[in-house]
Amino acid sequence: MAEKIYNGIPASGGIAIGPAFLYHPQGLSAPRRNLRAEEIKAELERYQESLKKTRVQISELEGKMKAKLGEEHAAIFQAHQVVLDDPLFMEEIPQSIQTRRLNAEFLLFEALEKFKTVMASLDDSYFRERGGDIQDVGNRLVKNLTGAERDQLKKLDREVIVIANDLAPSDTVSMQTDTVKGFCTDVAGRTSHVAIVARSLGLPAVLGMQTLTSEVQEGDMVIVDGNKGLVVVNPLPATLKQYQRLKDSYEAFQKSLEELRGLPATTPDGHQVTLAANIEIPQELDEIFKHGAEGIGLFRTEFLFLNREEIPTEEEQYLAYKELATKTGVSPAIIRTLDLGGDKFLSHLNVLNESNPFLGLRAIRLCLKRPDIFKAQLRAILRAAAHGPIKVMFPMISTLMEIRESKVLLNECIQQLKREGQVFRSGIEVGAMIEIPSAAVVADILIQELDFLSIGTNDLIQYTLAVDRVNEAVAYLYDPLNPAILRLVQMTVDACHNAGKWVGMCGEMAGDPQFVPLLLGMGLDEFSVSVSVIPEVKKVIRMMPFEKSKEIAKAALQMKTSDEVLKLIRDNVPSELRAILF
Ligand code: PEP
Ligand code: MG
Repeated sequence: MAEKIYNGIPASGGIAIGPAFLYHPQGLSAPRRNLRAEEIKAELERYQESLKKTRVQISELEGKMKAKLGEEHAAIFQAHQVVLDDPLFMEEIPQSIQTRRLNAEFLLFEALEKFKTVMASLDDSYFRERGGDIQDVGNRLVKNLTGAERDQLKKLDREVIVIANDLAPSDTVSMQTDTVKGFCTDVAGRTSHVAIVARSLGLPAVLGMQTLTSEVQEGDMVIVDGNKGLVVVNPLPATLKQYQRLKDSYEAFQKSLEELRGLPATTPDGHQVTLAANIEIPQELDEIFKHGAEGIGLFRTEFLFLNREEIPTEEEQYLAYKELATKTGVSPAIIRTLDLGGDKFLSHLNVLNESNPFLGLRAIRLCLKRPDIFKAQLRAILRAAAHGPIKVMFPMISTLMEIRESKVLLNECIQQLKREGQVFRSGIEVGAMIEIPSAAVVADILIQELDFLSIGTNDLIQYTLAVDRVNEAVAYLYDPLNPAILRLVQMTVDACHNAGKWVGMCGEMAGDPQFVPLLLGMGLDEFSVSVSVIPEVKKVIRMMPFEKSKEIAKAALQMKTSDEVLKLIRDNVPSELRAILF
């Protein structure tokens, strides 16, 4: 097999080597596999087996439906049994397996895609409905063939590299690092949630691979180079050896950073900032102090709401936040209230079918529409705050009114808890995220009614530059050093300092070691970054004189392009740091 090298977006550093595991979350993508002549018989049998299995499943569903809603509603499944006899399933697919020598799920998937296009062009509603039935049955068959299940990633019993078209947050939260060693997806960019999870878990990842799922076969040996954004499929022995060496030296470098664990994030000329961790999933909590974090600058709470049918109760949330408070002890932890919408959906909550979910009912907007959900979370946070220095932060703030409304609800919760005689802490610090350009522009107004601001560059860049953060086709425009972004960051920092308040950054920009010298000089008080990059960011801070970084920041704000800014950083950091960063 020939070695092939593919380019993608480097989303999480490190090198992983292992066999490919093709993951199809909904069972609706089916990678192509060429069959050898001697495999055809087995493939036909496998297809017949899945037809049988599908028949049995449909009759079970029919039985259940009959028992629950009566004969009339069960008719749909009788229709599905008939659909299964369609020549498409009974004749065309087995024939194609023999003539085209390809795997059944790929052929089915391909046939269904063609069928979908034809059906969509028909006006006749009868045919469209029948088309829907064929699609349903076909999808079920594909699922049975691929063995797709929601918790496939949880059940892995061997070390693999996950290759997927896309991974939803619900998929990534179930990944186990003892089996998943790295991953690649066809879609998504550097600040998509899947990239963030990769960095949180310290898993090498390359995203935006476009067609990798159709190029790789299950079990192919794969190298993921998350530092360079390269994926090598079926490497030659010499390449494998070279990468094994690179992997060892990268891991040794990471280990050498461990000695920084107990040291503060202080520049050589004595300027100290807070280096905190972003937490995406609770498993990471055990890791933060090992990596030398001084607290938590962003505790995302979505994990509690994903992968389940019902909304978590106040009590369940309280226990999770209390665990956070207990584990972080005297170190501060900022809990961000729910940020659903955008690319994180809950089928039972995000009821509207929005055509622009990133511009829709997301985060604070959804919470203010559903005070029942919002107040349960606020009550849980206030109660947990009795156990440690917890702060609360609202995401996606675009107006002062949203801050005021949120604080009214927070106050209502305080009054209720008081009346109920519950244990809680009322004097909790309240902050907001600056993720929307208009909010950065009026940061001086917003900060007057808050204790702190935290800049969420993942969204700030997306909304300022009109670049979808999860769309790999426009990833080349997603540019943290764009002069517009630098101005908005500086405006936010200045607004906070003029008001005598502190300001942090919890977007991924803060965790990119190359940007740290600049951000230091811009005056950030807190850097909150993925757990796995804490040591490297600390190393940069401890090597970068603050006075020099202020000069860089001042000059950067006069630059016209991001290339000029990057060159400025490169030319002005101390040479020992340049050797590490560039
Ligand atoms: C951000 O937008 O920068 C951020 C930290 O929030 P999230 O990535 O969860 O949208
Ligand atoms: Mg955000």
